[in-house]
Amino acid sequence: MLLRGRVTPKPPARAEGAPANRCILHADMDAFYASVEQRDRPELRDRPVAVGGDGSRGVVAAASYEARQFGVRSAMPSFEAKRLCPELVFLRGDIGKYARESRKIFRIFADFSPSVEGLSLDEAFLDLTGTERLLGPPTQVGADLRARVRRETGLVVSVGVAPVKMVAKVASAAAKPDGLLVLRPEQVQGFLAPLPVRKLWGVGPVSESRLRSCGFETLGDLAQAGPERLQSILGPEGERWSRLALGLDEREVQPNGRALSYSEENTFSADTENWSRLSETLLAHSESVARRLRRDGVRARTVVLKWRDARRARAGARGYPLHTRQCTLLEATDDGRVITQEARRLFRESGPEGPIRLIGVGVSGVEDCGIEQLSLFQPPGRGGKEASRSGREALNRAVDGLNDRFGPGAVVRAGERPADRAGLSLQIKRGEAVETSGSVEED
Ligand SMILES: [Mg+2]
Repeated sequence: MLLRGRVTPKPPARAEGAPANRCILHADMDAFYASVEQRDRPELRDRPVAVGGDGSRGVVAAASYEARQFGVRSAMPSFEAKRLCPELVFLRGDIGKYARESRKIFRIFADFSPSVEGLSLDEAFLDLTGTERLLGPPTQVGADLRARVRRETGLVVSVGVAPVKMVAKVASAAAKPDGLLVLRPEQVQGFLAPLPVRKLWGVGPVSESRLRSCGFETLGDLAQAGPERLQSILGPEGERWSRLALGLDEREVQPNGRALSYSEENTFSADTENWSRLSETLLAHSESVARRLRRDGVRARTVVLKWRDARRARAGARGYPLHTRQCTLLEATDDGRVITQEARRLFRESGPEGPIRLIGVGVSGVEDCGIEQLSLFQPPGRGGKEASRSGREALNRAVDGLNDRFGPGAVVRAGERPADRAGLSLQIKRGEAVETSGSVEED
């Protein structure tokens, strides 16, 4: 079933929203983190399970379908989830385990299309355009993909297939749980019309209340209003809403390329200004970012530090002032020690006053390191700094090898401890989502 390199290249973007031959599949794992836990711990099957932070600041990252029956939803504060469902089994979760499952799932996806765009650890678009002769009709492909994911991972994926991305995504949501929904071009408008406006991909609570306050309850209402009227009510965005409500969406599947940046951050379960605690956390984030750089065979030139004050400057979750500082290295690096040094230096030099709520380390300016580059600032040879650098590289490779073999965290740097987290709060960046971190799941 391996297809790479055998499928005709997809046609270039067209002006029309839904050309008849385009075929997009959206695959989305059902209650991913919770399902992984239920698979691995049979005593949790059929029980309401939530994965996420259980402290006072924790939120639900994923809820099993049993928990959803009690109204538990992702992104809900954990205390509220426990109030709704007192017998809820709350798990802190293991993002490393979910990332490993995600890699398996994405390897399966890659056998069904040469063009896979991951949106998070557990969902992706696959461009099936031009694959029908090789793989069969979309209904068959959807069923085959679902069966293979179930057979090889023991997990359930729901699938939507449609002529455009947005409709495929809405279709997979409609197919849940454990379903497949294939929409032919002529079925799209009839499928969308009765759906409430919040089902449209990209409509959050703010847009939803705005649309509803203007009298638009369903996608059919939006479609009927027409672009001019929507534009007069909603401004320049109006035309886009109108097209989406009609099922017109020109966006192509964009296979994930190289990540432009890597980062990790944590919200502390209790605010802290303890330097050794903060310093330890910077080490944990820096080493983790460095491992990901090495795994991807890249190095980065810019180190970014960010933190959020614990003192709120204004109301709301975003009211905690955010600060960022960055510096550019003479040489790109994939060494956690270098990143740690720079992050700590930035922190000391611009150190915050008062307790910290969140701290993070990132890198950007990512370069391939396939060819060893000689530094302009180092004489060639193996003396002094060069020798210590090659020693560090050998050590990093050995540590990575052991962690690959025995699981993440099998070997860590002296003083490295996992960062204290109020919840599963690793950040997702487009393009690295597939391989690395997780956050609140959508579904
Ligand atoms: Mg999902």
